[in-house]
Amino acid sequence: MIEPETPASSTTEEVVAQLRARPAFVMVSHVNPDGDTLGAGLALGLALKKLGKRVVYFQEGAVPRNLRFLPEAEMVTRDLPADLPPDTLYVFCDMGNRARGGATLENVARENILDIDHHLGNEHFGAYNYVIPTECSTGTCVVRLLRQLNVEIDRRIATCLLTTIMTDTGGFMHSNTTPEVLGLAAQLIVAGADREEITEEVFANKRFAAIKLLGRALEEATLEHEGRYCWSFIDEKMLETCGADYEDTEEIVGHLRSIEGVEAAALFKTQDGEIKVSLRSKGKINVQAAASRLGGGGHFRASGLTFRGTLGDATKAVEAALIAEGL
Ligand code: 5GP
Ligand code: MN
Repeated sequence: MIEPETPASSTTEEVVAQLRARPAFVMVSHVNPDGDTLGAGLALGLALKKLGKRVVYFQEGAVPRNLRFLPEAEMVTRDLPADLPPDTLYVFCDMGNRARGGATLENVARENILDIDHHLGNEHFGAYNYVIPTECSTGTCVVRLLRQLNVEIDRRIATCLLTTIMTDTGGFMHSNTTPEVLGLAAQLIVAGADREEITEEVFANKRFAAIKLLGRALEEATLEHEGRYCWSFIDEKMLETCGADYEDTEEIVGHLRSIEGVEAAALFKTQDGEIKVSLRSKGKINVQAAASRLGGGGHFRASGLTFRGTLGDATKAVEAALIAEGL
């Protein structure tokens, strides 16, 4: 069968027409969810409920501990109801390809997929693709839709949206923190989002085990390429020793990047016989391009991939990909 051509990005009007026409929605967040994928889906779901729509929040895994404060997070499920209408729209939030939504949704027909995202290299896998790489978060793509839908951004929606911005700008520190983003964040705070609560819940809520694990990863860190590349790893034994799990690994790679002189950082996590790699850049090296050489993706300064093989093979392959991108 010849694959249909990659559909172009949809206009705001086209997407809003679908949101108005469809009776039911499944908001899909990506595996290993973060504040952007969940916050964007919850914000849009809350808005659609205001319009009288049926909304289900789907996530293949569990909601991470630090995101359980989000409004409606307790309704996120991996079990889809059996009585969803055939024209239910599946809204994949914050993912460059549909596999990131998990295996459960493999059989959803393309005509019922809306892809809302801001990743470079998004595969436009939906019938409708609202992909805006200049947006700082998927949540701010959702803001455009809410404005066109004329739904009021209430306190709960504002909390979800501000969480997407604070997650993907690293608490307003990354280069995507433009004056427009700060202006929008201010509007969301005026609408009732509690910046301090989000800071505390998302960023200052680490388990002791996570801090111990960070210590182990820092102990194992290696500095190479005249100090421009820092990498480390997490294996099952380190998790066990610290009493930690994979949720506790999230900010480690940021510490590796924060080292003076480092241009690229990588964290290798062995998990179920595969190696999940997180890549970060300070802005000179395109880690999205490096990740996509190995089947992954993401953004210029933050990307990831899954490697099948040994840790030694993974570190070699990633180093080669980074060298090819100018390390
Ligand atoms: P993280 O390192 O925090 O897991 O991911 C950083 C960025 O890379 C995120 O924007 C995420 O969506 C993207 N990313 C992480 N893992 C993968 C992957 O396996 N495939 C693709 N395409 N993108 C990924
Ligand atoms: Mn995002």
